[in-house]
Amino acid sequence: MGETILVAGGAGYIGSHVCKALARNGYLPVCYDDLSTGHASAVKWGPLEKGRLGDAVRLAEVIDRHRPSAVVLLAGFIAVGESVVDPARYYLNNVAETITFLNALKDAGISHLVFSSSAAVYGAPRQTPVGEDHPTWPANPYGWTKLMVERMLADYAPAYGMRSVALRYFNAAGADPDGEIGEDHDPETHLIPLALDAALGRREAITIFGDDYDTPDGSCVRDYIHVSDLADAHVLALGWLRGQTQPTAEAFNLGNGNGYSVKEVIATAGRVTKREIPTRMAGRRSGDPAILVSDAGRAKDVLGWTLRHADLETQIAHAWAWHGKKAAAPTD
Ligand code: UDP
Repeated sequence: MGETILVAGGAGYIGSHVCKALARNGYLPVCYDDLSTGHASAVKWGPLEKGRLGDAVRLAEVIDRHRPSAVVLLAGFIAVGESVVDPARYYLNNVAETITFLNALKDAGISHLVFSSSAAVYGAPRQTPVGEDHPTWPANPYGWTKLMVERMLADYAPAYGMRSVALRYFNAAGADPDGEIGEDHDPETHLIPLALDAALGRREAITIFGDDYDTPDGSCVRDYIHVSDLADAHVLALGWLRGQTQPTAEAFNLGNGNGYSVKEVIATAGRVTKREIPTRMAGRRSGDPAILVSDAGRAKDVLGWTLRHADLETQIAHAWAWHGKKAAAPTD
């Protein structure tokens, strides 16, 4: 077995796909997760160590047992709307506990880190597509928590010799093409799984949050990126970090550069599922920018990242295959 990588949040949607990609590339992923939102059943490629981000004692024990050479940090709360309503919870988990986590890495002499950041760091974009040099001014507390950790990593590089990459995800979508893992949030807040639930008749309708945006059909435009493509970028980032001789803190956008509106996503989900998806109109969701589309050229040029599933229909088809399976399975 190759190098061990500690994957904090490895039982979650993106984290489980990262663990699979790591294993496929010869690494042993050790999942560190408190299972507050993740699922033990999604941990299939290495051991699961239960623990909180902010539990320094537990973390030191896990690091001592597994001796990881690098860390991928995905653990965190992710719901934009919830972060507006309850920012304290977000700052506590995504910042305060994360500081403890980073300091535990520092104390253990682990200097290679890939961090899950978000396109939410840009806030309402001034132009589109958004490159990494676009000003960062988040529109919601979730985005601020991500930006704060990015800022810390920039300061930890020269001070402690940290080498880190922050991956700014646009909208993660789809599921493992082999059907082994997929999205399973509770409560679900994301557009595609909710639309698929509506297709399955598990909810009455999908609500469209706002149709008065300055976009072609009035609904919000987002850049959907397949979760397996996202996962691949983490493996590439670890390899890239290995080649860095100097402390560094870099950020890379991960998106596919194509924007789809909420209404287009729902229409595509209707075509993929061959079912009618009832919709309901509602007002804007707080904190949502009108358009968020990436320029991910840097990840392609520097990390050598390529997309295997850029097409929205494929992403939704993979999500649909997983969704049907999940609907039929018992929950854990
Ligand atoms: N959205 C929607 N109805 C829903 C959930 C989401 O219209 O039930 C919209 C949301 O306002 C945003 C887009 O779909 O414009 C993507 O939202 P999601 O929550 O999936 O991801 P986010 O962009 O918040 O990361």
